Amino acid sequence: MKRLGILGSTGSIGTNCLQVVEALREEFEVTYLASHSNVELLWQQAQMFRPKAVALVQSAQNLNGAAYDLQRRFDALDVELLFGDEGLLELASRDDVDIVVNAIVGSAGLPATLRALANGVTLALANKETLVVAGELVTQTAKRAGATLIPIDSEHSALWQCLSGERLERLERVIITASGGPFREWPYDAFNKITVADALKHPNWRMGRKITIDSATLMNKGLEVIEAHWLFALPLAKISVLIHPQSIIHSMVEFVDGSIKAQLGLPDMRLPIQYALTYPDRLPNAFPRLDFARWHTLTFHEPDLEKFSCLKLALQALSEGGTAPAVLNAANEEAVGAFLNERVRFVQIPQIISEALEQHRNGQARDFEAVLAADRWSRAFVQQYLCN
Ligand code: NAD
Ligand code: MG
Repeated sequence: MKRLGILGSTGSIGTNCLQVVEALREEFEVTYLASHSNVELLWQQAQMFRPKAVALVQSAQNLNGAAYDLQRRFDALDVELLFGDEGLLELASRDDVDIVVNAIVGSAGLPATLRALANGVTLALANKETLVVAGELVTQTAKRAGATLIPIDSEHSALWQCLSGERLERLERVIITASGGPFREWPYDAFNKITVADALKHPNWRMGRKITIDSATLMNKGLEVIEAHWLFALPLAKISVLIHPQSIIHSMVEFVDGSIKAQLGLPDMRLPIQYALTYPDRLPNAFPRLDFARWHTLTFHEPDLEKFSCLKLALQALSEGGTAPAVLNAANEEAVGAFLNERVRFVQIPQIISEALEQHRNGQARDFEAVLAADRWSRAFVQQYLCN
């Protein structure tokens, strides 16, 4: 039995992960769960999976009198309840698990990633922002501790599967596919009218709100290029992006002999999650299967970097290196938050990020403090920008 710690268990990836566990009950034991503030769902999950401990990142003070009641409920279930960022880090630091799943959204997931890797525990990573903001630090920490980093992101899971048994030096390039999001066919002059509801309607995937907006701006693909750069130690020149609206081919690898390997499947995050949890094995499941007769047309085209300038900004930040990707990521998190709260328009998201990148003084991103400082600077910059 593999023992799991699932951080961000109440989100889209977290709940999909628990569905995989539920379907393979004899294979996994849920040891830890952590959520930001969804108390009721965390409670239901604790009742169902009986972990040793759970963490609620929202601090006990913010719950007022409810914290005491909550503590009693979890005590009665014999589940330890921890609060705050310290509670989350405490669980991420415990080494009585085989796999930690990081399904937290945003750079808030970075400290937990570093703690888990430093213990030498296998990390199944959905939290791509972790690699975007501190790729060097994260991969170095994993290397030093001998920890394995397994991607959950569908494109990276596809690349990971295609590269299995291959020699990295024989790889010519990787091709990361993208659905193109809901605005793929909209003319740019209609982008001004995009509403939050329009942007939250992803054609193929049902995901958390932040990544759904990132998919609509194509920032998600930019973050994924940076993620691939660190996961597979690839220079930007060897990573291309291809729009594939059906989301059936999850990504491809081209070798020096011109041969291409692709990984296909229905757009269902339970597949890459299950692969990360059972790796290097594969286990049978009852999830829906790909029926080729129904998908007779798979199409592809180049991304439009002028229309979707967030992708261009992410590629730029990767070429600049240093703390630029951390600034890009934090500015994006703030701008997306402001868009979701209807404080800025969709077209302002890349404008804000571009401004932050321009004003930022780049530095080295080798340690946690440097990355954190760049992240904080960028968030403060955007908040100031929003007040003007
Ligand atoms: P979500 O918003 O649905 O869930 C986020 C989870 O993180 C929740 O459990 C929430 O409680 C927790 N959380 C939020 N802020 C936190 C904080 N400050 N500290 C600790 N926990 C916190 O997000 P999601 O769609 O599940 O995405 C999670 C991550 O996975 C993101 O990095 C996203 O880019 C990546 N990802 C998601 C999908 C998908 O299908 N949803 C696919 C690929 C990659
Ligand atoms: Mg993805």
